Amino acid sequence: MAEALQQKLYSLHEKGYGAYQSLAGSWHFPSFDLHIDRAPKDPFAPPFSGVFRVSVPTAKAGFPDASFATRNAAIAFRDFLARRFHHACKRFSRGRRGTGNSGIITIAEPGQEILDRSSVKVDRDTIEARFFLGLPAHGRSIDARLAHTMIFSELPAIVESSLFASAGDLCALERHLHASEDADALRKKLSELGLVAFIADGSILPRASGIDPRPLQSDNAVPFSSPETLRIVIDLPHAGSVTGMRVPKGVTLLVGGGYHGKSTLLQAIESGIYNHIPGDGRELCVTVSTAVKIRASSGRSVTSTDISAFINHLPLARDTVAFSTTNASGSTSQAAFVAESLEAGAQVLLMDEDTSAANFMIRDGRMQQLVAREHEPITAFVDRVRQLYDELGVSTILVMGGSGDYFDVADCVIQLRDFRPEDVTASARNIVRTSPSRRAYEGSARLAQPRSRILHRLPVTADPQRHLRISAPDVHQLILGKNVIDLSDVEQLKETAQTRAIGYALRHADKYVDGRTTLGEIIEKVMAEARDLDVLDPRRTGHLASFRGLDLAAAINRIRGVDLRQE
Ligand code: ADP
Ligand code: MG
Repeated sequence: MAEALQQKLYSLHEKGYGAYQSLAGSWHFPSFDLHIDRAPKDPFAPPFSGVFRVSVPTAKAGFPDASFATRNAAIAFRDFLARRFHHACKRFSRGRRGTGNSGIITIAEPGQEILDRSSVKVDRDTIEARFFLGLPAHGRSIDARLAHTMIFSELPAIVESSLFASAGDLCALERHLHASEDADALRKKLSELGLVAFIADGSILPRASGIDPRPLQSDNAVPFSSPETLRIVIDLPHAGSVTGMRVPKGVTLLVGGGYHGKSTLLQAIESGIYNHIPGDGRELCVTVSTAVKIRASSGRSVTSTDISAFINHLPLARDTVAFSTTNASGSTSQAAFVAESLEAGAQVLLMDEDTSAANFMIRDGRMQQLVAREHEPITAFVDRVRQLYDELGVSTILVMGGSGDYFDVADCVIQLRDFRPEDVTASARNIVRTSPSRRAYEGSARLAQPRSRILHRLPVTADPQRHLRISAPDVHQLILGKNVIDLSDVEQLKETAQTRAIGYALRHADKYVDGRTTLGEIIEKVMAEARDLDVLDPRRTGHLASFRGLDLAAAINRIRGVDLRQE
């Protein structure tokens, strides 16, 4: 009972921090149960080193059953509850008070994407939230009075205002569920219609700032409006008939002057693999889930990757059929990213000239005259992008404001002018006819699917005595024991909870590594299990969020010292 917790708490006042461990157990409050699975070891222990859960009976919480009737609805519902809980923590907790993390009550912070989250669990019987509570101390000495305020006044207010339904919130919940269901329906339609992306008219694509993913709140934000020739109507279960721009399969170029909105449109397409929260502005911008943003990232490591479609006869006769390096150049890093993504099942490649290696993308007629073919290891992407689609069925959407050589190979050319897209395909074709490019085609007859690789060792096994430390200081950095994995070029990751989940998935993948199983097969097995994030983290710390097999593969490919070998 809660009274017993109260008494226990007072008996701990001014004792050493370790005494908090005695609070472990389940405590019954009037409207919820509090489970303290593990108290943090000291006041500086990072959030989520402790495991705190609250549970309420689903029947008493009063949310409609339909909220969790299907897997996708349940994901959106849990995402909604996590947001409410996060919001309530900000509202009712007075935050950091005392030493280290003393005084904090919080839950893993959700961003603009609706994700499967381990922070909230729902089933027929219980709704459970997993959160962090910074048990307070001054120095290492327990502050029981403050702990009492946090547990007996702030926490109940947080739980009651977030895990129980109130009339106003039911409308917000409905919007949340509908937004997610419409985005799912839209994504399903894409494949039926042979499209790779759809951007609804009226969408707000620009973000508040380079570091703030919320929508640009300004009278100057130009809402998206499709060119007439690319406009289609799609019927959705909740939004009804929606008009917007289709991006067909094949090779699509986004062109236009600098600062006219090309990268912003591509970024919206990149994030279209996720469903967005109501009010984001991109709720109806949807992309097939196998689209991968490719970029250059010089300095990364590459292990036994077949980049020969793009790079051959390197100096010193370096092998490019099974290319390995601890320090890739811009072009080799980008070639490796493409090959690895194809191996992992990417169906759409997204590239931006801003983040591409120039020599990977283009080699113009004059350069061909000056530097002979046999002295240039790179087959520029312009000579492969057609084959990627024609022979492997892989589409590309490319921002290319700087070279018209891509007109020859594009199916669709979209020009951004003052943030408004125009279909300029016909003009581009006309230019191809009237002023032919002076460059010679340098591709070869066929483009081979990159060879698959077998995973022989993941450097994730810790000493038997110690458990493996997995942490994600930020969304683009994963620490696994002694390994630091740089994910700064894996741009479609949005939340540290995803990065952490990838870390847990890597530990999980280790049991499938037997020197016979391919990377692709291992990813498939891990992803099947990761459908339940608790399988990845049985301690239920509540700080994981869903990620794609493509991103897990990207992480494995970036581990320095991973042992991958071609079959
Ligand atoms: P480009 O890639 O063509 O050089 P960007 O996409 O980087 O251009 O956009 C340039 C600037 O314009 C950015 O600050 C971006 O946030 C802003 N922007 C992009 N699209 C819009 C829009 N639809 N309305 C208002 N501002 C926009
Ligand atoms: Mg740009």
